[in-house]
Amino acid sequence: MQYLSTRGACAPKSFSEILLGGLAPDGGLYLPDTYPQVSREELAAWRGLSYAGLAFEIIRKFATDIPEADLRAIVERTYTAEVYRSEAITPLRTLEPGLHVLGLSNGPTLAFKDMAMQLLGNLFEYVLGKTGAELNILGATSGDTGSSAEYAMRGKRGIRVFMLSPLGKMSAFQTAQMFSLQDPNIFNIAVRGVFDDCQDIVKAVSNDHAFKARQRIGTVNSINWARVVAQIVYYFSGWFAATRRDDEEVAFAVPSGNFGNICAGHIARRMGLPIRRLILATNENDVLDEFFRTGVYRARGTAETFHTSSPSMDISKASNFERFVFDLVGRDAKVVRELWEQLDEAGAFDLGGTRHFGQIARYGFVSGRSTHADRLRTIRRVYADYGVIIDPHTADGLKVALANREAGVPLVVLETALPAKFEDTIVEALGRKPERPAGFEAIEELPQRFEVMDADAEQVKRFIAAHTGL
Ligand SMILES: *Cc1c(COP(=O)(O)O)cnc(C)c1O
Repeated sequence: MQYLSTRGACAPKSFSEILLGGLAPDGGLYLPDTYPQVSREELAAWRGLSYAGLAFEIIRKFATDIPEADLRAIVERTYTAEVYRSEAITPLRTLEPGLHVLGLSNGPTLAFKDMAMQLLGNLFEYVLGKTGAELNILGATSGDTGSSAEYAMRGKRGIRVFMLSPLGKMSAFQTAQMFSLQDPNIFNIAVRGVFDDCQDIVKAVSNDHAFKARQRIGTVNSINWARVVAQIVYYFSGWFAATRRDDEEVAFAVPSGNFGNICAGHIARRMGLPIRRLILATNENDVLDEFFRTGVYRARGTAETFHTSSPSMDISKASNFERFVFDLVGRDAKVVRELWEQLDEAGAFDLGGTRHFGQIARYGFVSGRSTHADRLRTIRRVYADYGVIIDPHTADGLKVALANREAGVPLVVLETALPAKFEDTIVEALGRKPERPAGFEAIEELPQRFEVMDADAEQVKRFIAAHTGL
């Protein structure tokens, strides 16, 4: 399988060639030249496979340049009951007949990002090991992504992680999760500033091309193609768990921010998985809901980006969205280039009324938004009706899911985090704390290891160089 860029100006590449990179050199995102198809017979044969077995069958269709025996060993090492706390890996919880929650948050950092990031850690170690190369991952985080990357890369040969976070701005739980890591290849840098300062430093360091090349700087942000591929697997596992027949259609509801999670659902559907609807849920940061309702995609500025109680969905533009638009406009890279030029110049583009947007229903998307009051109400309702506590992001998903529910169609809401990560909102909704999984009871009391720095890219560069010796 070959990969091309959504902007159309790059030579085709293999899976391994794009694995460590981010954007394509022409500024686009990578996608496979065609989506592999899964026949009904193949689908029937996969029912009953273990999660790792299913992951192998799906990922091998995309990672065609990794020898199959090696890939199988990598996925079997990744998706284990030890790491994900159950044999099912992604257990399906039935709230009532036809309404389910798919547990994607049982990995080391209690959020769904572990599903992909754990695989990325093992894939990175594998390809770096072949050439003896090193990789220094630089990132900025306000919570979930940074900790997920650190837990995926800790102890990995040839890899170091330098993770910037705003000093004192993360929850005590999130801070403890990251800063309690004692692995010598993990470096937490707490910046005196806000999240945007951290992101600006990452940009400044990345724009120093000589430094970036010498220090072998890479990223693990949500546009990484392998992360999307890994996420395709749980749409299949969730579909198997929610159905009995091999032609039964299912709706998935997805709490969305950067469009990475639901992009994987879109691809699973294009591969032939019987998905009736993809229900996209946003919080008050409703860039994507606006698009699916009107055809207008209007990126927001920092001043218009709200800090909400589902913080991992607080985005101003959706970095993976270009992948979907590429498909929507018939894979015409010229149209994508023009749209993103408009976005850069005018801050928005409008597909409303075009023949492309006229096709939107064929892609199965519907959308809705959820507010702080909706989250609290949904958390209370689910606790009262089913005795289950869900986190605020999953509550956004469930709220929008119920508004778009169709009789007779099984509805699967993706659980993107455990409530233990967002105690304050649970206390606000229910007046009690959620239970913490075993091993997390006293995480705030563990010794912490981190550096404090000013929001100064030069200081960060000196720190990196001193620790890589490159
Ligand atoms: C990252 C994240 C999301 C949003 O996922 P995208 O792939 O960015 O759309 C939703 N919920 C939680 C808990 C997350 O960590």
